Amino acid sequence: MNPQKFSALTPKIVLGVAAHPDDLDFGASGAMAAFAAQGAAVYYLLLTDGSKGSADYHASTVDLIKTRQAEQRAAIQAIGAKDVKFLDYPDGELEVTMDVKRDIVREIRTIRPDVVITMDPSVLYSAEQGMINHPDHRAAGQATLDAVYPLARDHLSMPELFAEGYEPHKVATLLLINFNEQNFTVDISQTIDLKLKALEAHASQMPDVAKTQAMVRDIASGIGAKSGYQFGEGYIRIDIPA
Ligand SMILES: [Zn+2]
Repeated sequence: MNPQKFSALTPKIVLGVAAHPDDLDFGASGAMAAFAAQGAAVYYLLLTDGSKGSADYHASTVDLIKTRQAEQRAAIQAIGAKDVKFLDYPDGELEVTMDVKRDIVREIRTIRPDVVITMDPSVLYSAEQGMINHPDHRAAGQATLDAVYPLARDHLSMPELFAEGYEPHKVATLLLINFNEQNFTVDISQTIDLKLKALEAHASQMPDVAKTQAMVRDIASGIGAKSGYQFGEGYIRIDIPA
């Protein structure tokens, strides 16, 4: 994919939507920290309870949910985000339903972001990386795309929300996290350390934090180099005409 010409991105309000605690910190926390440093109000919306993220046969699900939510709260503090909301759908079972879409639309109409960041739902697998994309990641991305367009922007979509006072909202730009291809890079040279700190907060998910951080740093260095930055985060950027 050829790099496209984009105008500079200086959002006022940013909403990240993902399936699990740690997804946005791996994929987008460098950019979210950079936007926060520019003065944007940055919010996280997590769709599942993260209750399957443990290799410990004896871990209590209730404790795991609490731990992961606390870790996510620490991570958003590290990058200067304002708030995180958890919708608590069961981890591993997220589907693209009207209920999930309605919950996202409600947040979009409340927070009224100009930039929404989510996972690219078109990523099914990567044979090269030996990776199957988690079904929750795909569902979160698809439900978020559907919520941005058309559901959040038209008052006749989900009229029950309009009746409750949730005014329609047009999102200007979508940033899709896609580890395989990108058309836009955010310079995270000033915020790479905050990203690494945010990742460090997710201790329950990382047997070797330093190794994970080194890998993330390497990837950010490679992506940044293509755009002349020391460190970068790559996205598929979609600007939606008003
Ligand atoms: Zn995940």
